[in-house]
Amino acid sequence: MQPLNKEIQPATKTENESLSAASCLLPSAYCTIAGIDINNLSQDEAIENIGRLIAKNEPHYMVVVNAAKVVTATRDSELKRIISNADLVTADGMSVVWASRLFGRPLKERVTGIDLFARLIATAAAKNLRVYFLGARDEAVKKVVEMLKTQHPTLQVAGSHHGYFTDSENPAIVEDIKSSRADLLFVAMGSPKQEKWIAANVEKTGARFALGVGGSFDHLSGAVRRAPLWMQNAGLEWLHRLMSEPRRMWRRYLIGNSQFIWVVVKQFFSRKSRA
Ligand code: UDP
Repeated sequence: MQPLNKEIQPATKTENESLSAASCLLPSAYCTIAGIDINNLSQDEAIENIGRLIAKNEPHYMVVVNAAKVVTATRDSELKRIISNADLVTADGMSVVWASRLFGRPLKERVTGIDLFARLIATAAAKNLRVYFLGARDEAVKKVVEMLKTQHPTLQVAGSHHGYFTDSENPAIVEDIKSSRADLLFVAMGSPKQEKWIAANVEKTGARFALGVGGSFDHLSGAVRRAPLWMQNAGLEWLHRLMSEPRRMWRRYLIGNSQFIWVVVKQFFSRKSRA
């Protein structure tokens, strides 16, 4: 896979125009946090870029990053490499946007997996793109598919499968996706499992665009409620998730967020000392 992400550089207008023409993507500067380049795109621009990737008719994938994923990538070189090779990377968490402001390279906004998922489903329904849903518990993925078919009667569901399978079952799942002729593949298996699965399998599936969407199937199926809008806008979605599932989430958010602050502070002062 071509790491198209690397073709999008912060550059002068003229350079940007030529880069954009070369990569078929809109120009976008990026902010680097802990060695991860995050594209500075609004949600609309991200959707437009995804449309361009899909039109290229080759396998592509995108990663959305929050504080926990950035911290994991500092320890997990495989995850870091997978994020670096992604065609697009955007900020799933508000803390990533705040960090970009601290570094003087403010990202335009959060572009979350769940919001992209919802918009891409509408696009797929309008443009006759076939969609495969992989991940979550069997009831959750089935419910989300039924719900989306009701909301978007023209949606072409290529197939679906829950996200609890063994390595020996993997080839059959990849084959199922391939024979379904899916254009878009949404993988909801949590991080870093979903990113690793996508990087290892997207080319074999034949899908043109894959995105890891974490707990989105659970949220949309109603198995887990998403934070109210005011909490999302205030950057407090993590607190809602922590309160909803404290046993599962405390490590991720309390330890993960503290580690993220440490990573950001270290980067901030190392920049200052170099300046
Ligand atoms: N999941 C899965 N297979 C696994 C582990 C998890 O399909 O082996 C699903 C799980 O059912 C849930 C999602 O992955 O639907 C993970 O949600 P989480 O909230 O952890 O994702 P996040 O967006 O926070 O990464």
